[in-house]
Amino acid sequence: MFDIGVNLTSTQFANDRDKVVKRAKDAGVTGLLLTGTNALESQQAQSLAARRPGYCWSTAGVHPHHAGEWSAETEATLRRLAISEQVVAIGECGLDFYRNIASPEQQAFAFSAQLELAAELSMPLFLHCRDAHERFISLLTPWLPSLPGAVVHCFTGTRDELEACLHAGLYVGITGWVCDERRGGALRELMPLIPADRLLLETDAPYLLPRDLRPRPTSRRNEPCFLPHIVQQVAGLRGEDSHALAKQCDRNARRLFRLEESVAEQGITQSF
Ligand SMILES: [Zn+2]
Repeated sequence: MFDIGVNLTSTQFANDRDKVVKRAKDAGVTGLLLTGTNALESQQAQSLAARRPGYCWSTAGVHPHHAGEWSAETEATLRRLAISEQVVAIGECGLDFYRNIASPEQQAFAFSAQLELAAELSMPLFLHCRDAHERFISLLTPWLPSLPGAVVHCFTGTRDELEACLHAGLYVGITGWVCDERRGGALRELMPLIPADRLLLETDAPYLLPRDLRPRPTSRRNEPCFLPHIVQQVAGLRGEDSHALAKQCDRNARRLFRLEESVAEQGITQSF
């Protein structure tokens, strides 16, 4: 089971990153994709991944909240990072009209620039979309034929939005949002509609601690070691075996991000 969304650069992990990664391995998590959300954090994510070869990879991009930071220098940094073997996707990029921390126009500009960059470099995309579905799909669609693949991470949209994302050929990333019976109710009903070969799982740690996790961590900090809980919940909602689902999602992540097969997932016993 592969966690495609870990914000390991977060200051919430500043004091115990090695332990967080160790706990993830011990919990059976087979790999981590570390999220880059602006130029600096993308560099930090790359160097954190480089210290954990074969287990951690990273993305390089500018999150819509940081779209106001976009410049020629940012693009040069992402371009340089994209060459490194740890960086396997452009992103996190997209649109977030829920909070509008950057203006919608700034967001559209930075998103378009990253779509163009990913197409030019032929790299997969790690996408974020909140309350911006129509604009998101219309900016993304012209680039789809030139992109090797993309995931809309932390999907929390409607059934129509899910169908549009699937129609566009996107992979769908599901977080512990789905564990919240109140806020995640609508999302829970969509779980059986995602084809098995398009589903990816993620914690989005340190955010989105699964609401029904017991015992509840005192810190309220989410960690990649809680991914098995999300796997179980999603498997239950889909009526599937959780081990089979974990393997399937690991294969999906490795296909999209073009990683080598995991030794653990090949069935060879290996202690990390
Ligand atoms: Zn996001």
